[in-house]
Amino acid sequence: MPTTHATAHAKAGMIARLNHPDYDRWASQIRATGGCRQPIHLRGKVDHYDPATGRLLHRYTTRTEPDGILRVPCKTRRASRCPACAETYRGDTYQLIRAGLAGGKGVPESVTTHPTLFVTLTAPSFGPVHTRREHNGKVQPCHARRNATTCPHGRVMSCTARHSKDDPRLGEPLCPDCYDYTGSVLFNALAPLLWKRFADSVRRHLAKLGGLLLKELRHHLTLSFAKVAEYQRRGVVHFHAVIRLDGPGGPEAPPPPWATTDTLTHAIQHAAKAVSAKAPAYADQPERPLHWGDQLDIRPITLNGDLTDQAVAGYIAKYATKAAECVGTLDRRINPLDTLDAYNLRDHARRLITTCMHLGTQPDLAELRLADWAHMLGFRGHFSTRSRRYSTTLGELRAAREHFVHTEEVTHGRLPLFDEDAVLVISEWQYVGKGHSAGDALLAAALTGMPLTTGQHTAGSRP
Ligand SMILES: [Zn+2]
Ligand SMILES: [Zn+2]
Ligand SMILES: [Zn+2]
Repeated sequence: MPTTHATAHAKAGMIARLNHPDYDRWASQIRATGGCRQPIHLRGKVDHYDPATGRLLHRYTTRTEPDGILRVPCKTRRASRCPACAETYRGDTYQLIRAGLAGGKGVPESVTTHPTLFVTLTAPSFGPVHTRREHNGKVQPCHARRNATTCPHGRVMSCTARHSKDDPRLGEPLCPDCYDYTGSVLFNALAPLLWKRFADSVRRHLAKLGGLLLKELRHHLTLSFAKVAEYQRRGVVHFHAVIRLDGPGGPEAPPPPWATTDTLTHAIQHAAKAVSAKAPAYADQPERPLHWGDQLDIRPITLNGDLTDQAVAGYIAKYATKAAECVGTLDRRINPLDTLDAYNLRDHARRLITTCMHLGTQPDLAELRLADWAHMLGFRGHFSTRSRRYSTTLGELRAAREHFVHTEEVTHGRLPLFDEDAVLVISEWQYVGKGHSAGDALLAAALTGMPLTTGQHTAGSRP
């Protein structure tokens, strides 16, 4: 569609919306979504009955709403899809990571005395890539090698460039033909299993250090953690985690005196080296064990030291809203019939994706579901996870916010103020679409102050 036509179409839609008698109600729906770029459209009703008499006390229906629908936020965590909802998610994640470090939201303040470490587990090398290193504030040459070798593809394994921060070559291999793309996507696919084995190994080692059997450990201490996956520019995930020792049952009780920061450090160092996860053999390739990389960063988190609770919470929350798109891949599932040419991908991202698609056809690797997760470069884990006892949950934070919204609706007279226990509430909701039409997107951006991006409207209803 030519731009001029799209703009004219958007303008016409915007004018129609502005002139519509229910514009005010539409605008208040949009404000209530907090600037969501792709609000969910719901059709339905909520009835309040008197349980004793069966009398209908109140009915809310979307039939009288603009376009006959209620727009609610999409609640995605992905900033690339909806900046407004991702910002809410980021804020919530920050709150709950912070609560696990400093107390609050139901976590006692005494949690600050528990041994707590900020740990980064990396992926191993799959071949040299362009990097940016700084030394005393000065950017160093990428891969300066005096007697650099030439690879079988005729490329000299050296790069003397001092790459700028936004150099698109960062993370890309010096020789893409030498680079171990298979290893890279298999590592991503097995990273969640590797993490699980790591956590199990930390527990086993702690039990050993405390002179306990593994099954006895939980009566003495709990290993609590919150972790986030981050894509490095080369397209592999690594994990940042807050790992904390609590007493039995969680943060309310202290861990036993023998379980110190040193004990935890020791157990983490041991586990990071010890664990592996095997990719199955396929075609003519043997079974392949994958390990964490040698770079292991373990730092204590303190309320006033080098690494503060705010810094860590901010860091984890930031990565919780990002996915693989920063590596230059796509933001959605890839259909095996899609031609990747249309997406204008850089060679590195494209090779990672095609490796996933290719390995995805191998029956022996079927359980890794690499084709389904090609857009994530093989990683199919959760981006941000917490152990049960870490702190409050996102669900609880959301419930608190929704309660607030509900109270607002009541005070504004939209929902009747009934004692929820004394009435029977029957609701029926149906998903009927999402997004904004082109005209609505312009107006919504103006109303909520959120940036407008083109190509995001997937209209489910027309104004
Ligand atoms: Zn949204
Ligand atoms: Zn370079
Ligand atoms: Zn080569």
